[in-house]
Amino acid sequence: MKNLTSWAMENVKRQKTESGKKIIIAGPCSAESPEQLLETANALVLNGNVDYFRAGLWKPRTLPGSFEGVGVEGLKWLRMVREETGMKVATEVGSEKHVAEALKYDVDLLWIGARTVSNPFVVQEIAESLRGVNIPVLVKNPLNPDVELWFGAINRFLKLGLKDVGAIHRGFSIWGKSIYRNPPIWKIPQLLKERIPGIMMINDPSHISGKRSLVPLISRKALENGADGLMIEVHPDPKKAMSDAAQQVTPGGFFDIIRSLNLEKTSYNGTNESSVDELSSEMDMVDDLLIHTIANRMDLSRQIARVNSPGQLTTARGAKWEQTLKRLLGMATEDGLRPDFIHRLFNEIQKESCHIQSSCSGIVEK
Ligand code: PEP
Ligand code: MN
Repeated sequence: MKNLTSWAMENVKRQKTESGKKIIIAGPCSAESPEQLLETANALVLNGNVDYFRAGLWKPRTLPGSFEGVGVEGLKWLRMVREETGMKVATEVGSEKHVAEALKYDVDLLWIGARTVSNPFVVQEIAESLRGVNIPVLVKNPLNPDVELWFGAINRFLKLGLKDVGAIHRGFSIWGKSIYRNPPIWKIPQLLKERIPGIMMINDPSHISGKRSLVPLISRKALENGADGLMIEVHPDPKKAMSDAAQQVTPGGFFDIIRSLNLEKTSYNGTNESSVDELSSEMDMVDDLLIHTIANRMDLSRQIARVNSPGQLTTARGAKWEQTLKRLLGMATEDGLRPDFIHRLFNEIQKESCHIQSSCSGIVEK
């Protein structure tokens, strides 16, 4: 893999301008009708910050029967948007057939979706269909937090001679509850940047958040973490959107986000009032998550009690618990938490687990 890294480093073209202008991509999750596209684009063009107007035409959906995009028809609408507003247009491609269609309509930028990136054969086919074509390509992270798979997908394009290849960080699928739709795991884009220094990293706060209330906060966090731009989903009437209704913002909401980010500045002090509000609402969500996590743990204790034979108690105690605590305290220290605090917290949690197991299996605790 070492060769690939140095190859990528030599060939990646940094798209950021000298002034550090952030690349902004905005538009609906899906193209739904020519009217919806034009209404969004006419509103967005008023904000001089938008570099590319986005709209998905081919939508890889989780469930069959969901709206899977308008397909080729939408390419005419994208062309109309470009002609009427002068904005460059971008769409997602998931096959070599999509690439061929998009190129016929001179789409200005293509991105590869997270589901597609997870399939190296398809990525290779798409890359080969772009051989010799001078078009920017952005590669989303795969669904799973696998930096090598992401790195590999980007390299498939670089190796075929494409120069404008960047990355989009859209978060990762996990099992279980989270305040995010796709937790960002900020370490992963960081690792990719270490693998390919100079790679352009666009953040997609919409797919990370899954809900519009969280989009401003993630956008700010992304810029603080060094993102080179943002891709934000915007719909004129988000609640009626045919895909990703909960996370799209209105053009007005988008303007507010861009204004609050103060894009000319390169760093944020996070001390203004709205930032404190946003941070405390994120803290509320983390508190909710803590409750769900503790409830999950107690539920596991209940399940163990059911599986155990009557009178048996499996909750770790004594030497086994000391060992577990040691591991947890090591992790806590790495994360900058005070060991004493974590020690007390986990002893309380463990006491409750013992209590639950005892009551479930009829043991009376001493
Ligand atoms: C999208 O950009 O609308 C999309 C489908 O995203 P992802 O591939 O990140 O799920
Ligand atoms: Mn979407």
